[in-house]
Amino acid sequence: MSEKMLYVAKIKDGTVIDHITAGHAMNVAKILGIGERSNGVVTIAMNVPSKHFGKKDMVKIEGRELNPEEVDKIALLAPHASINIIRDYEVIEKKEVKLPKIVTGIIKCTNPACISNSNEPVQPKFYVESEEPLSVKCHYCGYIMEKQDILKQF
Ligand SMILES: [Zn+2]
Repeated sequence: MSEKMLYVAKIKDGTVIDHITAGHAMNVAKILGIGERSNGVVTIAMNVPSKHFGKKDMVKIEGRELNPEEVDKIALLAPHASINIIRDYEVIEKKEVKLPKIVTGIIKCTNPACISNSNEPVQPKFYVESEEPLSVKCHYCGYIMEKQDILKQF
């Protein structure tokens, strides 16, 4: 079996998340609740040689397709990832994740005094200042959150 074959060994139904920033496969697994909420077969490959990025991580999840919120969370940690939906051994959909300029709804402000953490009906909103390393700024209080702050929430 060639190296290429080994890495892309097919699954019947599920999702292959490719081009994850090297070192982040475990974080992606955490976002998806793998080990807690997932009981299908999951394959995690780390530091796979990649033409474009030198090294990359991959996560293959059998029997599960990701929802849009999960895809948005992955974009925060792996802005170059691509998501392949597999049905009956064929890729039926391939999409690149995209980190928007403004992130709403999926993360909370770390500043406890922020109005978005009060009982006001305010939706958390962040401006993406930098993709890698990740840095986002709260619309309401200006607090800057980095990857570590965001990972704690998942
Ligand atoms: Zn805030």
